[in-house]
Amino acid sequence: MAEIEGQVKDEELDAEQQARRQLALAQIRQYPDAALKMAARPVEEFDDDLRRLAATQVGVLQRLFVFQVAEDETVALANPEIVERGEETTVEDEGCLSIQGVLLPVERPATIAIEGRDEHGAEVRYELEEPYSRVAQHEADHLDGVLILDRTTPEARREALGNLRPRIVIG
Ligand SMILES: [Zn+2]
Repeated sequence: MAEIEGQVKDEELDAEQQARRQLALAQIRQYPDAALKMAARPVEEFDDDLRRLAATQVGVLQRLFVFQVAEDETVALANPEIVERGEETTVEDEGCLSIQGVLLPVERPATIAIEGRDEHGAEVRYELEEPYSRVAQHEADHLDGVLILDRTTPEARREALGNLRPRIVIG
């Protein structure tokens, strides 16, 4: 089972995908890295550095993430703001690349509208349904230093923190 940001996907990865995934994961800050709790700064310059991409999870505190808006469309969004949240909410188990091996139930609005700027600085707006709305909310939370641990039920949080605590092995 492969965990991807904000959702869980059942899928077999081939050896090459596995290797690429391991390489990517090695770049991602892992809980409890302090960078994960920090708020990211607004993007002010839309230059080549920005287009090479950055995110809180790789320790660059800029308000930017890359996400899917449809099955075959991935976009970069800078300075994202969730401007509308649907009334209907759903609860799904979410994984996080920064908290590996943990799945937590998170309640979120099923539909959202999100606005921001693309990698060239142009204003963009997306109206999203699940699963894209959930992933976008998960990524927007990262920019504010908010993790699924902060969004889940108290019981699930307690259990997860118990599992995340470093274990002392004697003998
Ligand atoms: Zn995450």
